[in-house]
Amino acid sequence: MDPKLRRMAASLLSLLLLLEGGMFSSSSSPSGLLEKVFQHLDLHQDEFVQMLKEWVAIESDSVQPVPRLRQELFRMMAVAADTLQRLGATVDSMDMGSQQLPDGQILPIPPVILAELGNDPKKATVCFYGHLDVQPAERGDGWLTDPYALTEVDGKLYGRGATDNKGPVLAWINAVSTFRALYQDLPVNIKFIIEGMEEAGSVGLEELVEKEKNRFFSGVDYIVISDNLWVSRKKPAITYGTRGNSYFTVEVKCRDQDFHSGTFGGILNEPMADLVALLGSLVDSSGHILIPGIYDQVAPLTEEEIHMYKAIDLDLEEYRNSSQVEKFLFDTKEEILMHLWRYPSLSIHGIEGAFDDPGAKTVIPGRVIGKFSIRLVPHMNLSVVEKQVTQHLQDVFSKRNSSNQMAVSMTLGLRPWIANINDNQYLAAKRAIETVFGTEPDMIRDGSTIPIARLFQEIIHKSVVMIPLGAVDDGEHSQNEKINRWNYIEGSKLFAAFFLELAKLHE
Ligand SMILES: [Zn+2]
Repeated sequence: MDPKLRRMAASLLSLLLLLEGGMFSSSSSPSGLLEKVFQHLDLHQDEFVQMLKEWVAIESDSVQPVPRLRQELFRMMAVAADTLQRLGATVDSMDMGSQQLPDGQILPIPPVILAELGNDPKKATVCFYGHLDVQPAERGDGWLTDPYALTEVDGKLYGRGATDNKGPVLAWINAVSTFRALYQDLPVNIKFIIEGMEEAGSVGLEELVEKEKNRFFSGVDYIVISDNLWVSRKKPAITYGTRGNSYFTVEVKCRDQDFHSGTFGGILNEPMADLVALLGSLVDSSGHILIPGIYDQVAPLTEEEIHMYKAIDLDLEEYRNSSQVEKFLFDTKEEILMHLWRYPSLSIHGIEGAFDDPGAKTVIPGRVIGKFSIRLVPHMNLSVVEKQVTQHLQDVFSKRNSSNQMAVSMTLGLRPWIANINDNQYLAAKRAIETVFGTEPDMIRDGSTIPIARLFQEIIHKSVVMIPLGAVDDGEHSQNEKINRWNYIEGSKLFAAFFLELAKLHE
């Protein structure tokens, strides 16, 4: 049924029930309140878009280490703090000190905002994480409009940060401000943690969360992140997992200097030949990882999961076309999604020390470093994976009887994140999506690593959910990033409905 009709029918039904109960005001019923909230968000949508325009206009680029942009970041955080204060929130702008860059330059780190609204012990407390920094953007990169002037074309709001992550942060704020504007009590206690360094690796955030664990985060029941996208243009989604990553280097060394192939070729174990053999032993042409034991800990596939994958709205043809890939390793939607989300993958990234310039140089590199990584899934264990990889490479290398030296190391280890989709807040998010969009959400994961989810889950030990608002074609990090007006406004409704659903669970 059309969502508008659905809502009309729902409100009519609630009115009838109220009349039957002998009551004449509908404002006290939750569905009556929700109607008002939706109406307010619809009626005032231009104001909400205007606010997004003002936020997008601030060039809060955290990636380029330039003093002017750092100032913009500080201005962005001050504007957000001010907005929250005007909503009635208690706001702490946490000093994050400064960072020294590799070139010796010292730059201040923008504050992290910790804000709270309401502390009624009878209510659930939900904490929203978002970031207000953006990736670099310039008109000359191929933008059709000024990236810092939000421009609407056919219901699409183009601008850097529109979907990642200013739009979703504002959608949450719009939901809160609507209850305020209607003089309605917030159904839940709300907390905010908003940072300005996400695109630069969330500098200092983990230490702050650790430090605030027993203070700011003590009463928090649920954590919500809205910093990724749907897999569809139209169908909303809930994200319940992300893959981790273990990054390896394997060095093969004869000596530090390179050789001339005319002078030494034929009498050496060449490091590059060893390395190519090592890298070639990692994964086969069907994408299967050849490291013994690597699949042993991968969580078995359940019936429930198979059903979830079947229901997901993914247009494979469009996905293939937009990725400009002629043929993927798998032919079905389910297999493709499972291999992106719930199975590990191994990618070979590069070789340091190899000759990679154009032309023909008769060099024998004396020392080369191969780089590859494995995307990890539940329940793979980092140290077990490290051992398996090291053992495998040693076995392959020793069979070559090479006189070179080989050294393996894991340079980065990020664990996968998976949530329990039967947690209360998942139920609440699903119901809110059904109310607003008239459809069940896609239950999705993310193939890349979003460390923040795992960080919250591990330090605060509370349920984390990701509720994305952006459509699959929003183009976060790329040229012509946008959020649809529809996603932005319906997303604000979704968060408002979510507050009410959470409250119901706590009654
Ligand atoms: Zn983001």
